[in-house]
Amino acid sequence: MLFCSHCGKESEKGDVFCRKCGSKISIKPTVDDKIKGTVSELESLVDEAARGIKKELLEQVFEIEESLKKGDLSQDEFDLEAEEIRDRLHNFIEH
Ligand SMILES: [Zn+2]
Repeated sequence: MLFCSHCGKESEKGDVFCRKCGSKISIKPTVDDKIKGTVSELESLVDEAARGIKKELLEQVFEIEESLKKGDLSQDEFDLEAEEIRDRLHNFIEH
């Protein structure tokens, strides 16, 4: 299997240029290329995951706000839910 040394995207046999970023694909990827490819791939995944987590958490925030407004949540329940979200977020913030 070949991986783009620039962005880490897997390429099809016979591809001369990466289908994702357009970089020229080397015929024989070196170990360094493979490591770089893996690191790039993981970097992209971290970005994607971060976007996913942001979306999910924001939805939760708006959901509890909406529930509070509609009276589905009491103020205490809202505070508890908010505390849970806050705790999850603090795990990602450097201290
Ligand atoms: Zn590429």
